[in-house]
Amino acid sequence: MSIPTPEAHVRQVVETVERRSPSEPEFLQAVHEVLDTLIPVLAEHPEFIEAEVLDRLVEPERQVMFRVPWLDDDNHVRVNRGYRIQFNSALGPFKGGLRFHPSVNLSVVKFLGFEQIFKNALTGQQIGGGKGGSDFDPRGKSRFEVMRFCQSYMTELYRYIGAQTDVPAGDIGVGGREIGFLFGQYRRLTNGHESGALTGKGTGWGGAEVRTQATGYGAVYFAEEMLARAGESIEGRRAIVSGSGNVATYVIEKVQQLGGRAVTASDSSGFIVDEQGIDVDLLKQIKEVERGRISEYADRRPGARFVSDGSVWSVPGELAFPCATQNELDEAGARKLLDGGVRAVTEGANMPTTPEAVALLQQAGVLFAPGKAANAGGVATSALEMSQNASRDRWDFEQSEERLHAIMRDVHDSSYAASVRYGRPGDYVLGANTAGFVRVARAMVDQGVV
Ligand code: GLU
Repeated sequence: MSIPTPEAHVRQVVETVERRSPSEPEFLQAVHEVLDTLIPVLAEHPEFIEAEVLDRLVEPERQVMFRVPWLDDDNHVRVNRGYRIQFNSALGPFKGGLRFHPSVNLSVVKFLGFEQIFKNALTGQQIGGGKGGSDFDPRGKSRFEVMRFCQSYMTELYRYIGAQTDVPAGDIGVGGREIGFLFGQYRRLTNGHESGALTGKGTGWGGAEVRTQATGYGAVYFAEEMLARAGESIEGRRAIVSGSGNVATYVIEKVQQLGGRAVTASDSSGFIVDEQGIDVDLLKQIKEVERGRISEYADRRPGARFVSDGSVWSVPGELAFPCATQNELDEAGARKLLDGGVRAVTEGANMPTTPEAVALLQQAGVLFAPGKAANAGGVATSALEMSQNASRDRWDFEQSEERLHAIMRDVHDSSYAASVRYGRPGDYVLGANTAGFVRVARAMVDQGVV
């Protein structure tokens, strides 16, 4: 049997996915985004085509969907839908976060799980790719409602996870509080304290130092490396940040530590602009402690303003960090960033930039760091948490941050090296996809047809 050309092969795999999953737009977007960049790798490695690596890669190893019934504070029965997509375990146990947000559906969880395979491979750690979540909306729910929901969710999920099998963590709507509730129920159901079955735990009971900060800090370290290659730096630069969750907060903190000035943050109600630089303690107080709205920041901080109708991307600045959610930065947003003098866009969220916006920014010569490389610091630190749990060890903050920094330098360097090797130096989209893919594809070929 003759081997098809790389172009024909990719076309055929994409057509199969489109036929099988016609109602999963985010998943199809993520598949396109990766597969379209793999032609030069497949040309160099016909064995990947022969072993049908792509056909296997686009089909999750296992998908779990389940009912999550719970009682609200008025004792009314509520029902949500739970998901866990175990996408690929060639490199290690399935690994990836849980997202609790009303927008969660099968397409969203599959796109996140697919991205996670390559991201996790890029970290150089032994972790496969997975993702899960629910359409549960934590906003406006009491602490006990959130607890009952997490307990019900885990009552089904616990059968499928474990330190060697699948290790969930946080994502949008799932932070330290939710991981605590999930872990408590897991421990009860499994009659043991298998710490390695979840990451993002509290540092007093098996969690790793720096895990909370890792995604945001890591994204800024990536931006620093990318800028340094171009002879530039963060110091003295204005940063436009979207979001106000865990990723955005620690992007802002690290930008300011490195001498930059982050002047925006946002949530679904609008955005704030603070020309003095965002006061991170106030932001944490409002969003983390009080779980309030971003507009309250402007109420309490002299000189800051809240904008409810407009785009955060219209605020001028040299550095942009989309840290909210998928497809938040579209072509119109990218044009505004270009008008405002943007030099580098670093994705803190997963797939926040639409394909049209990525093309526009790259054509304009803007440095562009895709999420699967730039935000890999979170999951990389989760892998460090797994190592510490397995060896019953604990590293201090400095040591943990140094490891994160070294990993982000490696992620940058391997993405850049792959962009050179496959003919488009400085194209980090191509670089991250190809470097991550080669590592997974080799493992899949070595391990036979499974
Ligand atoms: N949800 C994060 C991500 O998108 C972290 C996952 C983890 O730590 O497992 O990579």
